[in-house]
Amino acid sequence: MATQEVLLGKSLPELTSWITQQGQPSYRGKQLYQWLYEKGATSWADMTVFPQKWRELQENAVIGRSAIHHYSIAPDQTRKYLLKLADDVIVEAVGIPTSKRLTVCVSSQIGCIMGCDFCATGKGGFTRNLKAHEIIDQILTVQNDFGERVTNVVFMGMGEPLLNLPEVIPAIKSINEDIGIGQRSLTISTVGLPQKIRELAHHKLQITFAVSLHASNQETREKLIPSANHYSLQQLLADCRENVKITGRRVTFEYILLAGVNDLPQHAQELAQHLRGFQTHVNLIPYNPISEVDYKRPSKERVNQFLNLLKQENIAVSVRYSRGLEADAACGQLRANTVLKNQ
Ligand code: SAH
Ligand code: SF4
Repeated sequence: MATQEVLLGKSLPELTSWITQQGQPSYRGKQLYQWLYEKGATSWADMTVFPQKWRELQENAVIGRSAIHHYSIAPDQTRKYLLKLADDVIVEAVGIPTSKRLTVCVSSQIGCIMGCDFCATGKGGFTRNLKAHEIIDQILTVQNDFGERVTNVVFMGMGEPLLNLPEVIPAIKSINEDIGIGQRSLTISTVGLPQKIRELAHHKLQITFAVSLHASNQETREKLIPSANHYSLQQLLADCRENVKITGRRVTFEYILLAGVNDLPQHAQELAQHLRGFQTHVNLIPYNPISEVDYKRPSKERVNQFLNLLKQENIAVSVRYSRGLEADAACGQLRANTVLKNQ
């Protein structure tokens, strides 16, 4: 059988060109576009605007949406979705509502090769990269399910987005242009990889760029993040500075607080030294426990102490308590094998 063409992820001109090749008038391109991105059609059967006979003939093209295999709702209304992809693998997406926003935390890969010590995804190994349409699908799924427009997207689910740029960049463009979410409302989070930060910067996207720093010195960073061995903190920070120059956007640094490991006053001071003169915002993330390791989340007092020390150094900083803990949907809790657990 010929490989099936996937329509999701295609732009309006691409859809128009595709549909005219199928013998339809070109105005049908706009209709297809609207049904895919606005109405969230999940199958040909949904698209009643097209003649039924014609739809039945479309065996060579699929919409590109996947089925919800399982989903759970945490008491704070965060919803976690397990989506079953065409090859039967499972990917996770999370919908996080607040009074003004609906944020989707998307995965860019199934699993992750980076193996960070505190992260459930990292503990589960790597399966494969996601295709652009499999990323876009996560957003439309959440949009459909909540019945409201998604306002923000964060690449903070499973995977390392900078290891999948050939799919992540087109996904970002489509999320921006086709779903209509402003680039400034999109965030890519990365643990940082040599060359890749520069590669992303040269796309000159107006997205928010977040770097998972997690340590104030090289030694601690190497203990937490295996790849830090080949990428010094100094070099990482230099690449981030260059990113600010190229994109004109400030960098966000994420810093997990692990009790006794990286949350002491001297760590806050060390961090402040590194960030002096940087256009940045620091997000402190109190650690979410995972079963494989015995790190501890610091007390509220310790978190506040760290926060205040950075504030005293004039660093823009906030604490992000993860949502969705009870649905195993919080940062670092997404893992490839949850499917079995929830069935
Ligand atoms: N691979 C990318 C994006 C996915 S991880 C990255 O590492 O940045 C998204 C965020 O969740 C990262 O900041 C990551 O460090 C954080 N995270 C991972 N495990 C966590 C845990 N157990 N508790 C809190 N945050 C965690
Ligand atoms: Fe991968 Fe990010 Fe988890 Fe590290 S923290 S293992 S880079 S998903």
